[in-house]
Parts: sequence; C-alpha cells; structure tokens
Amino acid sequence: MSILRNAAAIAKGMSITLGEAFKPTEVENYPDGKGPLRGAVFQERFRGKHQLQRDENGLEKCVACYLCAAACPSNCIYIEAAENTEQTRISSAERYAKVYNIDYNRCIFCGYCVEACPTDAITHGHGFELASLNATNMVMRKEDLLVPISTGLPHSNREEAEALA
Ligand code: SF4
Ligand code: SF4
Repeated sequence: MSILRNAAAIAKGMSITLGEAFKPTEVENYPDGKGPLRGAVFQERFRGKHQLQRDENGLEKCVACYLCAAACPSNCIYIEAAENTEQTRISSAERYAKVYNIDYNRCIFCGYCVEACPTDAITHGHGFELASLNATNMVMRKEDLLVPISTGLPHSNREEAEALA
C-alpha cells in the first residue's frame, strides 16, 4: 500500500512540475524592455526616491518643521529653514526648506519620514536606479526631489532657490 501511495504522490508532484514546465514564461524584461521604466514593473506601494510635493497653488508643502529629520533612523535628512517674506513666498506657512538634502548612501527606505510629515510634503516616488560609484552623487538636493508645478515630475528649480539664497 505504501508503495502505491508513494507512487501516487510522485505522480501528482510530477504532474504539477510538467504542467508548469510547459506554461509560457512570464518575466520582467528589465532592463531591455520598452518605455521609460525599461521593462521594470512596480507595485503602487514601492518606496523609491522621495518627492517633495507642492500644494494646489504650486507652493511647496514643506514648512521646514524638521519632523522628518527627527524621525529618520539613519540620520540622512539635512534641512536648512528660511522665512517666507511678503515679496517671496515659497510655502504657505511661515517657513520653507531652503535646503533639503537626503543622503541615499544612508537611506534605508523605511518610510518613517513620510509618516512623520504633518503636511504630506514628502512622499516616496518610484524613482529607482539610484546606485552610483561616486558617493557624492548619492546626496540628492531639494532641486532633485521637488516636483515641478506643471507635470508632477521631479525637476531642477535651482534658479529659484539660488535667487532666494
Ligand atoms: S526613508 Fe527612512 S532612512 Fe530614508 S530618509 Fe526617510 S526616514 Fe530616513
Ligand atoms: S518634509 Fe514634512 S516633516 Fe519634513 S521638514 Fe518638511 S514639512 Fe516637516
């Protein structure tokens, strides 16, 4: 009896193996796929490179409260705050982040900064391929993280920041 039972178990196992062997293969064709992601597929919850968000008026949501930096277990967020003025308004509150750096040499993508932010100013985007042989390239500045007013994609607004410096 036990021989028959073992043979049945083997046959069942092999039927699954053979069934899978002849199914079409489904793989991600990264990095040779089409489109800007080159075949990479992300879940919505994927935690990639951070984005600094703007409000509906185009102002920066970050109010330089430092809560994200305080929550960061890797100590990789560096912020310098500045005051908004009558002439120059960057955020809707009193202060804005004149400097906002994230050191991706240290970031572990834990998401604590996103959870800590009271204004939803910092979120995880889907940016990936952040590795570099030069560690200084891994320190992203505000200008690398801030979403533009028009398209919602990160861009450089360095001129704006420099004008305010
Ligand atoms: S994801 Fe985590 S480690 Fe990275 S900056 Fe945010 S709090 Fe720090
Ligand atoms: S990103 Fe959010 S938590 Fe961090 S300083 Fe700006 S407002 Fe505060």
